[in-house]
Amino acid sequence: MKPIIIVYVQLRYNYRLYPAPGQRSALARAFGCTRVVFNDGLAVRQGAHKAGLPYPTDADLSARLTAVKATPERAWLGEVSAVILQQSLADLNIAYRRFFESRKALREWKAAGRKGPRPREVGLPRFKSRKDTRQAIRFTANARFTILGNGRLRLPKIGNVPVRWSRPLPSEPSSVTVIRDAAGRYFASFVVQTERGPLPETEPVIGIDLGLAHFAVLSDGMKIASPRFLRRAENKLRRAQRSLSRKQDGSRNRDKARVKVARAHAQVADARREFHHQLSTALIRDNQAVAVEDLCVTGLARTRLAKSVHDAGWSAFTGMLEYKARRYGREFHRIGRFEPTSQVCSACGAKDGPKPLHVRVWQCQACGTRLDRDVNAAVNVAKAAGLAVTACRAQVRPGPGVPAQRSETGTHPKPRRKPA
Ligand SMILES: [Zn+2]
Repeated sequence: MKPIIIVYVQLRYNYRLYPAPGQRSALARAFGCTRVVFNDGLAVRQGAHKAGLPYPTDADLSARLTAVKATPERAWLGEVSAVILQQSLADLNIAYRRFFESRKALREWKAAGRKGPRPREVGLPRFKSRKDTRQAIRFTANARFTILGNGRLRLPKIGNVPVRWSRPLPSEPSSVTVIRDAAGRYFASFVVQTERGPLPETEPVIGIDLGLAHFAVLSDGMKIASPRFLRRAENKLRRAQRSLSRKQDGSRNRDKARVKVARAHAQVADARREFHHQLSTALIRDNQAVAVEDLCVTGLARTRLAKSVHDAGWSAFTGMLEYKARRYGREFHRIGRFEPTSQVCSACGAKDGPKPLHVRVWQCQACGTRLDRDVNAAVNVAKAAGLAVTACRAQVRPGPGVPAQRSETGTHPKPRRKPA
């Protein structure tokens, strides 16, 4: 008998919070204090760097915080939970560590002759502002946050905040992050350890090509468009943005329109997350192995296609595929973008070079197979991951191809026309 492997996974569970007015001002104070601690720490490190002094360590900053809280100028830092201040310093330290790691990876990549995909670059941490659209504080278990019997969330020095428990928490949370988003909504994001045995094994394996004409195209020939609930939210956002652009600068109506835009943005983000969850769950449930192309979204985002790339939210989606694969005992493969997935015939492997984006269907010069651009790419992604997908279904019947979407990212990007 096969042993049952229990996989422990850290998951986030998010719930809407409804703080009372007094709790909202306590939260605003807490956001402000963590911001000051973060910015002070950043200024100390920047100052040391400019003065040519050694890098202030994590322990240095922590000791400095304790000392500063004892001074009259910063005594008000004592009005909020000490844990959230420490966590704010921890965030700063993580941001610095990510920056140093990315610089090291880039150096090593250059030293190794620039082989493989270029590592993602992470910039230095930046100062936080009260105008940032997302404000957050984090309480760990030793801050003694508690879920009360009446369903409220007790937060130290904030109060007992009402929560909408949209689904049960599977186990004791190890931390909770309280977030205020651009639309002025409050959320509690709990981190919990869950145990989940793997799903029973299944046969199919699949390659996925992520694009803009379709959100995803699968190596078995299936094309997946954005669902209607997401398109509806996007249309509402567009209308809100148009209405905002017509309002006069500095007017009350403009402020109102701005709030509407922020709310519509949040709704689009929610709808998109929902769609990503639905699709990634289905793909992981139905396939034993899944392969996607690493699109290096940060690289693409610098081009004029930035908006479309961000909108498609590929990296959020592939991240979901990755953690769900781990959780349910499936294989997950990420293929480096240096693999020319759109230039190689998935049937015979012949490479016949890049094709302009409007070419959606072509015939392989070597073996005569008719190939659909996106399905061919999805099959190649699967093959690059070593998955044995059948290429036969990737062929298409002769006929008119799918018209090109000019805004798709690819080898020959064309300037995007403004939508009328
Ligand atoms: Zn061929």
